[in-house]
Amino acid sequence: MDTFDYDLFVIGAGSGGVRASRIAASLGAKVAVAEERYFGGTCVNVGCVPKKLYSYGAHFFDDFEDSRGFGWQYDNLRFDWANLKANKDIEIKRLNAIYENILESNDVDIFEARARISGPNQVCIDGKDITAKHILIAVGGWPWVPEFPGSEFVSTSNDVFAMDSLPEEIVVLGGGYIAVEFASIFSKLGCKTSLIYRGDQLLRGFDDDVRRFITAEMSKSLDLHLQEDIVEITKENNTMSVLLESGSKVSCNMVIGATGRVPLTDDLGLDTVAVKLSTNGAIKVNDHFQTDEPSIYAVGDVIDRVALTPVALAEGQIVSRALFSGDTTALDYKNIATAVFCHPNIATVGLSEQDAIAAGIEVHVYESQFTPLKHTLSGRDERSMVKLIVDRQSDKVLGLHLVAADAGEIVQGFAVAINCGATKADFDSTIGIHPTLAEEFVTMRTKKESS
Ligand code: NDP
Repeated sequence: MDTFDYDLFVIGAGSGGVRASRIAASLGAKVAVAEERYFGGTCVNVGCVPKKLYSYGAHFFDDFEDSRGFGWQYDNLRFDWANLKANKDIEIKRLNAIYENILESNDVDIFEARARISGPNQVCIDGKDITAKHILIAVGGWPWVPEFPGSEFVSTSNDVFAMDSLPEEIVVLGGGYIAVEFASIFSKLGCKTSLIYRGDQLLRGFDDDVRRFITAEMSKSLDLHLQEDIVEITKENNTMSVLLESGSKVSCNMVIGATGRVPLTDDLGLDTVAVKLSTNGAIKVNDHFQTDEPSIYAVGDVIDRVALTPVALAEGQIVSRALFSGDTTALDYKNIATAVFCHPNIATVGLSEQDAIAAGIEVHVYESQFTPLKHTLSGRDERSMVKLIVDRQSDKVLGLHLVAADAGEIVQGFAVAINCGATKADFDSTIGIHPTLAEEFVTMRTKKESS
Protein backbone atom coordinates (compact mmCIF):
# COMPACT_ATOMS: atom_id res chain seq x y z
CA MET A 1 0.00 0.00 0.00
CA ASP A 2 1.28 3.49 -0.89
CA THR A 3 2.30 5.71 1.97
CA PHE A 4 2.23 9.46 1.67
CA ASP A 5 3.60 12.37 3.69
CA TYR A 6 0.07 13.77 3.97
CA ASP A 7 -3.53 12.67 3.47
CA LEU A 8 -4.36 16.08 2.00
CA PHE A 9 -2.10 18.78 0.63
CA VAL A 10 -3.90 22.08 0.04
CA ILE A 11 -2.44 24.74 -2.25
CA GLY A 12 -3.74 28.14 -1.19
CA ALA A 13 -4.77 29.38 2.26
CA GLY A 14 -7.73 31.46 1.16
CA SER A 15 -11.36 30.91 2.08
CA GLY A 16 -11.78 27.50 0.39
CA GLY A 17 -8.31 26.18 1.27
CA VAL A 18 -8.41 27.05 4.96
CA ARG A 19 -11.93 25.67 5.38
CA ALA A 20 -10.99 22.40 3.63
CA SER A 21 -7.80 22.09 5.71
CA ARG A 22 -9.57 22.68 8.99
CA ILE A 23 -12.42 20.25 8.27
CA ALA A 24 -10.05 17.56 6.99
CA ALA A 25 -7.78 17.91 10.05
CA SER A 26 -10.77 17.83 12.40
CA LEU A 27 -11.78 14.54 10.76
CA GLY A 28 -8.40 13.04 11.58
CA ALA A 29 -6.54 13.62 8.31
CA LYS A 30 -2.88 14.62 8.20
CA VAL A 31 -2.99 17.93 6.37
CA ALA A 32 -0.55 20.50 5.00
CA VAL A 33 -1.22 23.81 3.29
CA ALA A 34 1.08 25.94 1.14
CA GLU A 35 0.54 29.69 0.89
CA GLU A 36 2.94 32.00 -0.90
CA ARG A 37 1.19 35.35 -0.41
CA TYR A 38 -1.14 36.02 2.50
CA PHE A 39 -3.38 34.05 4.85
CA GLY A 40 -7.09 34.50 4.13
CA GLY A 41 -6.72 34.93 0.37
CA THR A 42 -8.47 37.52 -1.76
CA CYS A 43 -11.45 37.93 0.56
CA VAL A 44 -9.44 38.93 3.60
CA ASN A 45 -6.62 40.83 1.94
CA VAL A 46 -7.79 42.44 -1.28
CA GLY A 47 -11.49 41.66 -1.50
CA CYS A 48 -14.66 41.40 0.57
CA VAL A 49 -13.32 42.49 3.95
CA PRO A 50 -11.20 45.58 3.16
CA LYS A 51 -13.77 46.56 0.51
CA LYS A 52 -16.56 46.46 3.08
CA LEU A 53 -14.46 48.50 5.53
CA TYR A 54 -13.90 51.13 2.83
CA SER A 55 -17.58 50.99 1.96
CA TYR A 56 -18.49 51.71 5.61
CA GLY A 57 -16.01 54.59 5.52
CA ALA A 58 -17.62 55.99 2.39
CA HIS A 59 -21.14 55.74 3.85
CA PHE A 60 -20.29 58.28 6.54
CA PHE A 61 -20.27 60.94 3.86
CA ASP A 62 -24.00 60.40 3.28
CA ASP A 63 -24.67 59.94 6.98
CA PHE A 64 -23.11 63.29 7.89
CA GLU A 65 -25.00 65.04 5.12
CA ASP A 66 -28.26 63.30 6.03
CA SER A 67 -27.91 64.21 9.70
CA ARG A 68 -28.47 67.90 8.96
CA GLY A 69 -32.13 67.19 8.18
CA PHE A 70 -32.38 65.67 11.67
CA GLY A 71 -31.03 68.77 13.38
CA TRP A 72 -27.31 68.02 13.53
CA GLN A 73 -24.91 70.81 12.80
CA TYR A 74 -21.16 70.66 12.46
CA ASP A 75 -18.25 72.49 10.93
CA ASN A 76 -14.86 71.53 9.55
CA LEU A 77 -15.68 67.92 8.69
CA ARG A 78 -12.60 66.32 7.20
CA PHE A 79 -11.76 62.89 5.88
CA ASP A 80 -8.31 61.36 6.33
CA TRP A 81 -7.60 58.49 3.93
CA ALA A 82 -4.28 57.64 5.59
CA ASN A 83 -6.10 57.01 8.85
CA LEU A 84 -8.70 54.75 7.24
CA LYS A 85 -5.99 52.82 5.37
CA ALA A 86 -3.84 52.39 8.51
CA ASN A 87 -6.83 51.11 10.51
CA LYS A 88 -7.80 48.78 7.67
CA ASP A 89 -4.25 47.40 7.54
CA ILE A 90 -4.29 46.68 11.28
CA GLU A 91 -7.57 44.80 10.98
CA ILE A 92 -6.35 42.76 8.00
CA LYS A 93 -3.18 41.79 9.91
CA ARG A 94 -5.38 40.65 12.79
CA LEU A 95 -7.42 38.50 10.40
CA ASN A 96 -4.26 37.07 8.76
CA ALA A 97 -3.17 35.90 12.19
CA ILE A 98 -6.58 34.39 12.92
CA TYR A 99 -6.48 32.40 9.69
CA GLU A 100 -2.95 31.18 10.42
CA ASN A 101 -4.02 30.27 13.92
CA ILE A 102 -7.00 28.26 12.64
CA LEU A 103 -4.50 26.11 10.72
CA GLU A 104 -1.97 25.81 13.53
CA SER A 105 -4.52 24.98 16.19
CA ASN A 106 -5.85 22.19 13.96
CA ASP A 107 -2.34 20.75 13.54
CA VAL A 108 -2.18 21.63 9.85
CA ASP A 109 1.43 21.95 8.66
CA ILE A 110 2.03 25.31 6.99
CA PHE A 111 4.49 25.97 4.15
CA GLU A 112 4.82 29.70 3.49
CA ALA A 113 6.06 29.17 -0.04
CA ARG A 114 4.94 28.48 -3.58
CA ALA A 115 3.90 24.90 -4.25
CA ARG A 116 3.96 23.37 -7.73
CA ILE A 117 2.31 20.09 -8.57
CA SER A 118 4.88 17.59 -9.82
CA GLY A 119 2.74 14.47 -10.12
CA PRO A 120 -0.71 13.10 -9.25
CA ASN A 121 0.35 12.70 -5.61
CA GLN A 122 3.25 15.07 -5.35
CA VAL A 123 3.99 18.76 -4.91
CA CYS A 124 7.35 20.45 -4.98
CA ILE A 125 8.21 23.25 -2.56
CA ASP A 126 11.59 24.99 -2.67
CA GLY A 127 13.06 21.99 -4.51
CA LYS A 128 11.69 19.46 -2.04
CA ASP A 129 9.11 16.87 -3.08
CA ILE A 130 6.21 16.19 -0.75
CA THR A 131 3.67 13.44 -1.33
CA ALA A 132 -0.03 13.45 -0.56
CA LYS A 133 -2.87 11.02 -1.12
CA HIS A 134 -5.08 13.92 -2.23
CA ILE A 135 -4.20 17.41 -3.45
CA LEU A 136 -6.63 20.33 -3.32
CA ILE A 137 -6.05 23.35 -5.53
CA ALA A 138 -7.57 26.47 -3.96
CA VAL A 139 -5.38 29.18 -5.44
CA GLY A 140 -8.14 31.62 -6.39
CA GLY A 141 -8.08 34.24 -9.10
CA TRP A 142 -6.38 37.47 -10.06
CA PRO A 143 -7.62 40.74 -11.63
CA TRP A 144 -7.51 40.85 -15.41
CA VAL A 145 -7.37 43.98 -17.58
CA PRO A 146 -7.66 44.07 -21.40
CA GLU A 147 -4.69 45.36 -23.36
CA PHE A 148 -4.90 48.68 -25.20
CA PRO A 149 -2.48 51.58 -25.68
CA GLY A 150 -1.73 52.86 -22.18
CA SER A 151 -3.24 49.86 -20.36
CA GLU A 152 0.02 49.66 -18.41
CA PHE A 153 -1.25 52.70 -16.48
CA VAL A 154 -4.35 50.83 -15.28
CA SER A 155 -4.49 49.84 -11.61
CA THR A 156 -6.57 46.95 -10.29
CA SER A 157 -8.58 46.26 -7.17
CA ASN A 158 -5.39 44.82 -5.62
CA ASP A 159 -3.62 48.18 -6.00
CA VAL A 160 -6.50 50.10 -4.46
CA PHE A 161 -5.99 48.42 -1.11
CA ALA A 162 -2.31 49.41 -1.03
CA MET A 163 -2.92 53.01 -2.09
CA ASP A 164 -1.47 55.55 0.35
CA SER A 165 -3.29 58.65 -0.85
CA LEU A 166 -6.66 59.35 -2.39
CA PRO A 167 -6.59 60.54 -6.02
CA GLU A 168 -8.68 63.61 -6.82
CA GLU A 169 -10.12 62.14 -10.00
CA ILE A 170 -10.70 58.46 -10.73
CA VAL A 171 -11.90 56.54 -13.75
CA VAL A 172 -13.30 53.05 -13.20
CA LEU A 173 -13.58 50.68 -16.18
CA GLY A 174 -16.21 47.92 -16.04
CA GLY A 175 -19.78 47.47 -14.92
CA GLY A 176 -19.60 44.40 -12.66
CA TYR A 177 -19.43 43.93 -8.90
CA ILE A 178 -15.99 45.46 -8.36
CA ALA A 179 -16.52 48.41 -10.69
CA VAL A 180 -19.77 49.57 -9.13
CA GLU A 181 -18.54 48.99 -5.57
CA PHE A 182 -15.31 50.95 -6.07
CA ALA A 183 -17.00 53.70 -8.04
CA SER A 184 -19.47 54.12 -5.17
CA ILE A 185 -16.75 54.13 -2.54
CA PHE A 186 -14.54 56.68 -4.28
CA SER A 187 -17.32 59.02 -5.28
CA LYS A 188 -18.57 59.10 -1.67
CA LEU A 189 -15.05 59.67 -0.36
CA GLY A 190 -14.91 62.84 -2.40
CA CYS A 191 -13.07 61.77 -5.59
CA LYS A 192 -14.54 62.97 -8.85
CA THR A 193 -15.44 59.55 -10.23
CA SER A 194 -16.24 58.44 -13.77
CA LEU A 195 -17.46 54.94 -14.58
CA ILE A 196 -16.97 53.64 -18.09
CA TYR A 197 -18.98 50.58 -19.07
CA ARG A 198 -19.50 48.96 -22.46
CA GLY A 199 -23.09 47.82 -21.70
CA ASP A 200 -26.25 49.90 -21.57
CA GLN A 201 -27.08 49.16 -17.90
CA LEU A 202 -24.72 48.22 -15.07
CA LEU A 203 -24.38 44.71 -13.61
CA ARG A 204 -25.12 42.29 -16.42
CA GLY A 205 -26.71 39.12 -15.08
CA PHE A 206 -28.84 40.89 -12.47
CA ASP A 207 -32.58 41.44 -12.89
CA ASP A 208 -33.16 44.01 -15.66
CA ASP A 209 -35.31 46.25 -13.44
CA VAL A 210 -32.61 46.18 -10.77
CA ARG A 211 -30.00 47.07 -13.39
CA ARG A 212 -32.06 50.01 -14.69
CA PHE A 213 -32.77 51.19 -11.16
CA ILE A 214 -29.18 51.05 -9.86
CA THR A 215 -27.86 52.65 -13.04
CA ALA A 216 -30.21 55.58 -12.46
CA GLU A 217 -29.36 55.78 -8.74
CA MET A 218 -25.61 55.68 -9.31
CA SER A 219 -25.78 58.30 -12.04
CA LYS A 220 -26.75 60.76 -9.29
CA SER A 221 -23.25 60.70 -7.81
CA LEU A 222 -21.09 59.48 -10.70
CA ASP A 223 -20.17 60.51 -14.16
CA LEU A 224 -21.50 57.46 -16.02
CA HIS A 225 -20.31 56.70 -19.55
CA LEU A 226 -22.43 53.80 -20.82
CA GLN A 227 -21.89 51.94 -24.11
CA GLU A 228 -18.34 53.23 -24.00
CA ASP A 229 -14.89 51.72 -23.77
CA ILE A 230 -11.37 53.00 -23.33
CA VAL A 231 -9.35 53.31 -26.53
CA GLU A 232 -6.17 54.81 -25.12
CA ILE A 233 -4.65 56.26 -21.98
CA THR A 234 -1.84 58.78 -22.04
CA LYS A 235 -0.07 59.98 -18.94
CA GLU A 236 1.80 63.13 -18.14
CA ASN A 237 3.16 63.57 -14.64
CA ASN A 238 0.30 62.73 -12.29
CA THR A 239 -2.48 63.23 -14.82
CA MET A 240 -3.93 60.75 -17.27
CA SER A 241 -6.05 61.44 -20.27
CA VAL A 242 -8.50 58.66 -21.07
CA LEU A 243 -9.72 58.56 -24.66
CA LEU A 244 -13.09 56.87 -25.11
CA GLU A 245 -14.56 55.16 -28.18
CA SER A 246 -16.92 58.07 -28.78
CA GLY A 247 -13.92 60.37 -29.03
CA SER A 248 -14.56 62.13 -25.72
CA LYS A 249 -11.77 62.38 -23.15
CA VAL A 250 -11.80 62.10 -19.37
CA SER A 251 -8.89 63.29 -17.29
CA CYS A 252 -7.99 61.66 -13.99
CA ASN A 253 -5.16 60.66 -11.65
CA MET A 254 -6.00 56.96 -11.54
CA VAL A 255 -7.73 54.39 -13.75
CA ILE A 256 -9.04 51.27 -12.06
CA GLY A 257 -9.67 48.30 -14.33
CA ALA A 258 -12.47 46.17 -12.90
CA THR A 259 -12.93 44.03 -15.97
CA GLY A 260 -13.04 40.61 -14.37
CA ARG A 261 -10.77 38.09 -12.71
CA VAL A 262 -8.99 35.03 -14.10
CA PRO A 263 -8.14 31.71 -12.41
CA LEU A 264 -4.57 31.69 -11.09
CA THR A 265 -3.36 28.48 -12.71
CA ASP A 266 -0.10 29.71 -14.28
CA ASP A 267 3.07 27.90 -13.26
CA LEU A 268 1.19 25.51 -10.99
CA GLY A 269 2.66 22.41 -12.61
CA LEU A 270 -0.65 21.34 -14.13
CA ASP A 271 1.23 20.11 -17.22
CA THR A 272 2.62 17.27 -15.08
CA VAL A 273 -0.83 15.83 -14.42
CA ALA A 274 -4.11 15.16 -16.25
CA VAL A 275 -5.95 18.20 -14.82
CA LYS A 276 -7.91 19.93 -17.61
CA LEU A 277 -8.85 23.58 -18.01
CA SER A 278 -11.97 25.07 -19.59
CA THR A 279 -11.70 27.71 -22.31
CA ASN A 280 -11.67 30.53 -19.72
CA GLY A 281 -8.69 28.94 -17.92
CA ALA A 282 -10.71 27.60 -14.98
CA ILE A 283 -9.92 24.13 -13.67
CA LYS A 284 -12.54 21.60 -14.79
CA VAL A 285 -14.07 19.59 -11.97
CA ASN A 286 -16.98 17.17 -11.62
CA ASP A 287 -19.85 17.49 -9.11
CA HIS A 288 -17.47 16.34 -6.37
CA PHE A 289 -14.81 18.96 -7.27
CA GLN A 290 -12.56 16.23 -8.59
CA THR A 291 -10.41 17.13 -11.60
CA ASP A 292 -9.57 14.80 -14.49
CA GLU A 293 -6.65 13.64 -12.31
CA PRO A 294 -8.55 11.57 -9.73
CA SER A 295 -6.29 12.45 -6.77
CA ILE A 296 -6.52 16.19 -7.41
CA TYR A 297 -9.46 18.39 -6.43
CA ALA A 298 -10.12 22.11 -6.91
CA VAL A 299 -12.49 24.63 -5.30
CA GLY A 300 -13.20 28.35 -5.21
CA ASP A 301 -12.43 31.04 -7.77
CA VAL A 302 -9.99 28.75 -9.62
CA ILE A 303 -12.96 26.64 -10.82
CA ASP A 304 -14.91 29.82 -11.60
CA ARG A 305 -18.39 28.49 -10.89
CA VAL A 306 -19.66 31.13 -8.48
CA ALA A 307 -16.82 33.42 -7.39
CA LEU A 308 -18.11 34.19 -3.90
CA THR A 309 -16.40 33.52 -0.56
CA PRO A 310 -19.29 31.60 1.05
CA VAL A 311 -19.40 29.34 -2.00
CA ALA A 312 -15.65 28.59 -1.79
CA LEU A 313 -16.12 27.81 1.92
CA ALA A 314 -18.95 25.41 1.15
CA GLU A 315 -17.00 23.75 -1.68
CA GLY A 316 -13.89 23.27 0.50
CA GLN A 317 -15.98 21.78 3.27
CA ILE A 318 -17.73 19.39 0.90
CA VAL A 319 -14.42 18.07 -0.49
CA SER A 320 -12.99 17.35 2.95
CA ARG A 321 -16.18 15.78 4.28
CA ALA A 322 -16.40 13.55 1.19
CA LEU A 323 -12.76 12.46 1.45
CA PHE A 324 -12.53 11.93 5.18
CA SER A 325 -16.02 11.18 6.47
CA GLY A 326 -17.68 9.66 3.41
CA ASP A 327 -20.36 12.36 3.36
CA THR A 328 -21.12 12.78 -0.34
CA THR A 329 -23.70 15.57 -0.03
CA ALA A 330 -23.44 17.71 -3.18
CA LEU A 331 -23.48 21.50 -3.21
CA ASP A 332 -26.77 23.07 -4.24
CA TYR A 333 -25.92 26.23 -6.20
CA LYS A 334 -29.60 27.26 -6.33
CA ASN A 335 -30.72 30.28 -4.32
CA ILE A 336 -27.28 31.60 -3.42
CA ALA A 337 -27.95 35.05 -2.03
CA THR A 338 -25.53 37.77 -3.02
CA ALA A 339 -25.04 41.47 -2.31
CA VAL A 340 -23.32 44.25 -4.21
CA PHE A 341 -22.03 46.94 -1.87
CA CYS A 342 -22.57 49.86 -4.20
CA HIS A 343 -24.49 52.84 -2.83
CA PRO A 344 -27.33 52.04 -2.34
CA ASN A 345 -26.63 48.33 -1.82
CA ILE A 346 -28.21 45.60 -3.91
CA ALA A 347 -29.05 42.15 -2.63
CA THR A 348 -30.71 39.35 -4.44
CA VAL A 349 -31.65 35.70 -4.04
CA GLY A 350 -33.10 33.32 -6.59
CA LEU A 351 -34.17 34.06 -10.14
CA SER A 352 -34.38 37.30 -12.03
CA GLU A 353 -37.58 37.91 -13.97
CA GLN A 354 -35.67 37.25 -17.21
CA ASP A 355 -34.14 34.00 -15.92
CA ALA A 356 -37.55 32.72 -14.83
CA ILE A 357 -39.10 33.53 -18.19
CA ALA A 358 -36.14 31.98 -20.04
CA ALA A 359 -36.67 28.81 -17.99
CA GLY A 360 -40.24 28.70 -19.28
CA ILE A 361 -41.79 29.51 -15.90
CA GLU A 362 -44.95 31.61 -15.84
CA VAL A 363 -44.53 34.23 -13.16
CA HIS A 364 -46.30 37.00 -11.34
CA VAL A 365 -44.05 39.97 -10.62
CA TYR A 366 -44.49 42.38 -7.72
CA GLU A 367 -42.39 45.51 -7.66
CA SER A 368 -42.30 48.68 -5.69
CA GLN A 369 -40.07 51.76 -5.81
CA PHE A 370 -40.25 54.37 -3.10
CA THR A 371 -38.39 56.96 -1.03
CA PRO A 372 -37.32 55.45 2.31
CA LEU A 373 -38.74 57.16 5.39
CA LYS A 374 -35.28 58.35 6.46
CA HIS A 375 -34.93 60.43 3.35
CA THR A 376 -38.15 62.34 3.94
CA LEU A 377 -36.15 64.38 6.47
CA SER A 378 -32.63 63.95 5.12
CA GLY A 379 -33.76 65.27 1.77
CA ARG A 380 -31.48 62.81 0.01
CA ASP A 381 -32.54 61.98 -3.51
CA GLU A 382 -32.17 58.22 -3.05
CA ARG A 383 -34.91 55.72 -3.77
CA SER A 384 -35.28 52.04 -2.92
CA MET A 385 -36.69 49.17 -4.90
CA VAL A 386 -38.13 45.78 -3.96
CA LYS A 387 -39.15 43.05 -6.37
CA LEU A 388 -40.59 39.56 -6.04
CA ILE A 389 -40.81 36.91 -8.75
CA VAL A 390 -43.52 34.37 -7.97
CA ASP A 391 -44.29 31.08 -9.72
CA ARG A 392 -47.91 31.36 -10.95
CA GLN A 393 -48.55 27.66 -10.56
CA SER A 394 -47.00 26.84 -7.19
CA ASP A 395 -47.14 30.38 -5.68
CA LYS A 396 -43.50 29.87 -4.59
CA VAL A 397 -41.32 32.95 -4.41
CA LEU A 398 -38.58 32.23 -6.95
CA GLY A 399 -36.67 35.48 -6.77
CA LEU A 400 -36.34 38.39 -4.37
CA HIS A 401 -34.44 41.59 -5.16
CA LEU A 402 -33.74 44.65 -3.10
CA VAL A 403 -31.93 47.91 -3.77
CA ALA A 404 -31.63 49.78 -0.49
CA ALA A 405 -29.31 50.58 2.39
CA ASP A 406 -28.15 47.38 4.12
CA ALA A 407 -29.85 45.25 1.49
CA GLY A 408 -27.53 42.29 2.21
CA GLU A 409 -28.48 42.26 5.90
CA ILE A 410 -32.15 42.16 4.97
CA VAL A 411 -32.02 39.62 2.15
CA GLN A 412 -29.96 37.04 4.07
CA GLY A 413 -33.03 36.26 6.21
CA PHE A 414 -35.36 36.10 3.23
CA ALA A 415 -32.90 33.69 1.56
CA VAL A 416 -33.69 31.15 4.29
CA ALA A 417 -37.41 31.50 3.63
CA ILE A 418 -36.92 31.07 -0.10
CA ASN A 419 -34.67 28.07 0.44
CA CYS A 420 -37.48 26.57 2.50
CA GLY A 421 -39.87 27.08 -0.44
CA ALA A 422 -41.87 30.00 0.97
CA THR A 423 -44.91 31.00 -1.10
CA LYS A 424 -46.30 34.43 -1.78
CA ALA A 425 -49.17 33.48 0.55
CA ASP A 426 -46.56 32.85 3.30
CA PHE A 427 -45.11 36.30 2.68
CA ASP A 428 -48.60 37.86 2.75
CA SER A 429 -49.55 36.17 6.03
CA THR A 430 -46.40 37.45 7.72
CA ILE A 431 -46.93 40.54 9.84
CA GLY A 432 -44.55 43.32 8.92
CA ILE A 433 -42.22 45.21 11.25
CA HIS A 434 -43.28 48.83 11.10
CA PRO A 435 -41.83 51.19 10.08
CA THR A 436 -39.10 49.39 8.16
CA LEU A 437 -38.13 49.20 4.56
CA ALA A 438 -38.17 45.39 4.61
CA GLU A 439 -41.87 45.24 5.54
CA GLU A 440 -42.51 46.13 1.91
CA PHE A 441 -41.80 42.48 1.07
CA VAL A 442 -44.81 41.29 3.06
CA THR A 443 -47.20 44.02 1.98
CA MET A 444 -46.91 43.86 -1.80
CA ARG A 445 -50.34 43.10 -3.28
CA THR A 446 -50.35 44.65 -6.74
CA LYS A 447 -48.94 42.63 -9.60
CA LYS A 448 -46.88 44.25 -12.29
CA GLU A 449 -49.21 44.66 -15.27
CA SER A 450 -47.27 42.46 -17.68
CA SER A 451 -47.32 39.47 -15.34
P1 NDP B 1 -17.40 40.87 -13.25
O1 NDP B 1 -17.31 39.71 -14.15
O2 NDP B 1 -18.50 40.96 -12.27
O3 NDP B 1 -17.44 42.20 -14.14
C1 NDP B 1 -16.50 42.46 -15.12
C2 NDP B 1 -16.92 43.71 -15.85
O4 NDP B 1 -15.92 44.08 -16.80
C3 NDP B 1 -18.21 43.51 -16.64
O5 NDP B 1 -18.98 44.67 -16.53
C4 NDP B 1 -17.72 43.30 -18.08
O6 NDP B 1 -18.62 43.74 -19.04
C5 NDP B 1 -16.50 44.20 -18.08
N1 NDP B 1 -15.51 43.78 -19.08
C6 NDP B 1 -15.01 42.53 -19.26
N2 NDP B 1 -14.12 42.52 -20.25
C7 NDP B 1 -14.04 43.79 -20.72
C8 NDP B 1 -13.31 44.42 -21.76
N3 NDP B 1 -12.46 43.72 -22.52
N4 NDP B 1 -13.49 45.73 -21.97
C9 NDP B 1 -14.36 46.43 -21.22
N5 NDP B 1 -15.08 45.90 -20.20
C10 NDP B 1 -14.93 44.59 -19.97
O7 NDP B 1 -15.97 40.95 -12.57
P2 NDP B 1 -15.45 41.73 -11.30
O8 NDP B 1 -14.01 41.91 -11.59
O9 NDP B 1 -16.26 42.94 -11.02
O10 NDP B 1 -15.67 40.71 -10.12
C11 NDP B 1 -15.24 39.36 -10.24
C12 NDP B 1 -16.09 38.46 -9.40
O11 NDP B 1 -15.77 38.64 -8.04
C13 NDP B 1 -17.58 38.74 -9.48
O12 NDP B 1 -18.18 38.14 -10.57
C14 NDP B 1 -18.08 38.23 -8.17
O13 NDP B 1 -18.35 36.86 -8.31
C15 NDP B 1 -16.92 38.45 -7.25
N6 NDP B 1 -17.14 39.63 -6.39
C16 NDP B 1 -18.15 39.59 -5.48
C17 NDP B 1 -18.40 40.67 -4.66
C18 NDP B 1 -19.53 40.64 -3.70
O14 NDP B 1 -19.98 39.54 -3.37
N7 NDP B 1 -20.02 41.78 -3.22
C19 NDP B 1 -17.59 41.88 -4.75
C20 NDP B 1 -16.58 41.82 -5.74
C21 NDP B 1 -16.36 40.72 -6.52
P3 NDP B 1 -19.86 42.84 -19.53
O15 NDP B 1 -20.87 42.91 -18.45
O16 NDP B 1 -20.31 43.53 -20.77
O17 NDP B 1 -19.33 41.48 -19.77
